[in-house]
Amino acid sequence: MSKQPAAAAAPAPAPPAEPAAPAEEKKPEKKEKPKAPKRRIQVHKLYKVEGDSLTRLRKDCPRCGKGYFMAQHKGRLTCGNCGYTTFLSKP
Ligand SMILES: [Zn+2]
Repeated sequence: MSKQPAAAAAPAPAPPAEPAAPAEEKKPEKKEKPKAPKRRIQVHKLYKVEGDSLTRLRKDCPRCGKGYFMAQHKGRLTCGNCGYTTFLSKP
């Protein structure tokens, strides 16, 4: 910065630096995604009754023992209680 002699007799006070007003940006309206309805677990699909016998279609968790079933996902079985996961080998 170099010193400059004041040329004008009455130096005008410097106007306060005004931040350049940003052009009004139009925010894209929030699109509300249609929520998928909550699906309750269909317990009757986890068992199979044949006559007098009942078969459980989900495997038991080897860590938690009987009564804790593994959730079937794509390519893996997971225990919801302890988090134990087994990955199914691809054929
Ligand atoms: Zn478990």
